[in-house]
Amino acid sequence: MLIFDGHCDSLSSPVSGECSLNVRDCRRQLDFAGALGQIAIQSMAVFVDKVRREEIVFGDFLSLRERLLQAVAGNDQVKLVTSAEDLRSQQEGSLGVLLTVEGAEVMEGDLANLERLYALGVRSLTLTWNNDNFLASGNESQNDHGLTVAGRKAVNMMERLKMAVDIAHLSSKSVHDVLKMVNNPVIDSHGCCRALCDHPRNLTDGQIKGLASTGGVLGIAYVAEFLHEPYQEATIDDVVCHIAHVADLVGVAHVGLGSDFDGVDYPLCGLEDVSKTTDLIDRLARKGFHQAEIAKIMGGNFWRVYQQILA
Ligand SMILES: [Zn+2]
Repeated sequence: MLIFDGHCDSLSSPVSGECSLNVRDCRRQLDFAGALGQIAIQSMAVFVDKVRREEIVFGDFLSLRERLLQAVAGNDQVKLVTSAEDLRSQQEGSLGVLLTVEGAEVMEGDLANLERLYALGVRSLTLTWNNDNFLASGNESQNDHGLTVAGRKAVNMMERLKMAVDIAHLSSKSVHDVLKMVNNPVIDSHGCCRALCDHPRNLTDGQIKGLASTGGVLGIAYVAEFLHEPYQEATIDDVVCHIAHVADLVGVAHVGLGSDFDGVDYPLCGLEDVSKTTDLIDRLARKGFHQAEIAKIMGGNFWRVYQQILA
């Protein structure tokens, strides 16, 4: 079964600054050694933590990309995925890495840098993190103005360039604005369902319907706070419940996995690291999903959407 994980922060983890992604390190939830044999396609985000940095520059993206390229060059079972053809030719037992950017701050307020990101292999952009930026309001915005003029231009450019527009972390007005203007499928690479857990990072049923109407996919995040109240009781079974909610609401074609490994404060009980990913297969079967449906959830849906966007 082809497994596609729509988001992790392992590339940007401080641990990865000290220790190559090729080395198994228990301080990290995901690395190449752990993902090989579990995951076929892994989206890996360039994320620069705004809380810890005064200024974020394009060079921050370049250095994290370099970190990834060096690790890929040192492992003949791992390659970068940048085209629909790369997705189609993905060999069993190997790992394809899709490079993404989480938060447009690395663009330094310049839309021309979107083309540079594309040229350097980026195939998806999460427009904001939790805060506002020059493209849009984030989910912790104090003054939700939705997409800016530059944000609308960026979404148009991304559709033209063949990049996935990722609405994770956006404010409700930003989500609304994106869904209203796009022609291609939109993704939410890592989030959960507001109907099951009232957290601002989760999508409402209305937003999930809007996302599905574009043909897109919501990657369910293994984030305790997004899954269950109180979060201390969240487990792998909550991930299955959120998957089932999306499937009941809009159909099984619009839900996938968005682990958020190495971007979470607490490992989730039952999905502590990438080695547990395939445990979801059995849990989904016990929930009543058929094999063909499970294959879509575990990776087929994200594969289809990226196939469509990159083609
Ligand atoms: Zn995130």
